[in-house]
Amino acid sequence: MSLLHFRLGAAACTMALLWTSMTSAQEREGDKVDLAALTQVKNEAFQHSQVMENLFYISEVYGPRVTNSRNHRAAAEWAMQRMKEWGLQNVHLEKWGPFGDGWQIKKYYGALQTPAYTSLIGFPLAWTPGTNGPVTAEAVLAPLHSQEDFAKYRGKLKGKIVLIFDPRELSLHAEPEAHRLTEEEVAARAQTPDPSHTGFFVGRPGTPAPRPGEYTPASLSTAAPSGRILRNQVNAFLKEEGVAVALTPGYNGDGGTIFATYGGSQDPKDPVGPPMAAITPEQYNRICRLLEHGITPKLTFDIETEYQKDDQMGFNVIGEIPGATRPDEVVMVGGHFDSWQGGTGATDNGTGSSVAMEAVRILATLHKPMARTVRVALWGGEEEGLYGSLAYVQQHFAPRDTMKKTPEYDKLDIYFNDDSGSGKFRAVSALGNAQLAAIFQSWIAPIKDLGIEGVVGLTAGPTVQPGGTDSTSFSWIGLDGVGFMQDPLEYGTRTHHSNMDLYDRVQKGDVMQGAMIEAWFAYNAATRPEMLPRIETPEPLTK
Ligand SMILES: [Zn+2]
Repeated sequence: MSLLHFRLGAAACTMALLWTSMTSAQEREGDKVDLAALTQVKNEAFQHSQVMENLFYISEVYGPRVTNSRNHRAAAEWAMQRMKEWGLQNVHLEKWGPFGDGWQIKKYYGALQTPAYTSLIGFPLAWTPGTNGPVTAEAVLAPLHSQEDFAKYRGKLKGKIVLIFDPRELSLHAEPEAHRLTEEEVAARAQTPDPSHTGFFVGRPGTPAPRPGEYTPASLSTAAPSGRILRNQVNAFLKEEGVAVALTPGYNGDGGTIFATYGGSQDPKDPVGPPMAAITPEQYNRICRLLEHGITPKLTFDIETEYQKDDQMGFNVIGEIPGATRPDEVVMVGGHFDSWQGGTGATDNGTGSSVAMEAVRILATLHKPMARTVRVALWGGEEEGLYGSLAYVQQHFAPRDTMKKTPEYDKLDIYFNDDSGSGKFRAVSALGNAQLAAIFQSWIAPIKDLGIEGVVGLTAGPTVQPGGTDSTSFSWIGLDGVGFMQDPLEYGTRTHHSNMDLYDRVQKGDVMQGAMIEAWFAYNAATRPEMLPRIETPEPLTK
């Protein structure tokens, strides 16, 4: 019955009344919110927004922020400076690790020289070396489908520019690239008609999981351990064969948009392959078609990349607004600050970082006393496996294997995460907790005009395995790690891990809405009389 809350159209008012009268017990469990405070939060968020200014610095000034790269560190310094200007306390970098090498692009030039000149849209794959000046060489198509294909090409690739995957089949884009969830779609995702299917979906597009042992552009780009094994095998082989440059068409995208991430590894012990780049699939396919017609094109690449080996430790950026009366109780907001290299990490996750920074700026600027401490965390190493948040939760709260809780464990109220692109917040996850759902409903009730409809995951429990994003690092050890369901916009189709993850693809109104809601949620959590209800604590893995 409670889920009918999301019913729409003409019946909306009636249903809302029905909801109120039939769920009075639940209503009482919700909070009585401070509407005066809400007005102040809204005014600060909408009249004096800094969220796009934050995003401008993070994405446009500092650029792509591969974990531990110079750009990532410089952006972190900037973020700390901003936090201090806003009056945050205890602003610092918290180290974890070792993570491994930082890496970034210093130069990329790619061209088809013969039979007719064309510049090649592309970018180097992360953790691959440069070419040491321009190299011009013949193209060879040597698609690697599995380790078995190595024998086929052994001794034939020396000094060549090698296309290591099959040409990609491309189709017409007949559907719009961007999508906003309809109210019906949000409502449908809040329903659990079949409790045997209770997965929580936050609208994050998944890269299709590669089959074990299969080599595809997607399997090269995955952060899963299988990807690392694959990259090591491919790199060792290509290096041994003396390949000049290896090329991929990316695992998704076309029309100038290329989705690609890894080529090598941050671990200095892993084999380093040849220079590698992803190029737009139309141009990749053109090279393949030329070869098919017996015309061997010559390509030129001039790639310079830089490994940062001096500091192998990863870091998270932390800042706080100390609580007025219960400073040891902590409400957290955050997102990951690291990104991939093709674009500028604007939607993944410049927006989540900008939103979290803006949420704490709003709260710091209002100077309204909050009982609990509000802490912002900008994680590192998310893209390679949630390393920053996994290290943080285990260091501060409980190591997952022993579940030996620190005193901080019982004082962590909740963590709000934003990492599903730049779309508006349309719903919040309740982690399968009915009390939490009722409380969230009461916070959402006065801001429904902003397009946030309600609560999802009323029945589905939280993700207890780390994966997807940093909120799962919290739920993994029994803490409330909460994500928002967001409008997908162009996240899966255009920006997520692509060269088009750029500032202009972010919709200002959407991130303003997200920042306001995150500030409002953090404010409510930090000022309510009690801490929020908890999910279940997992069993230790070792005794
Ligand atoms: Zn992300």
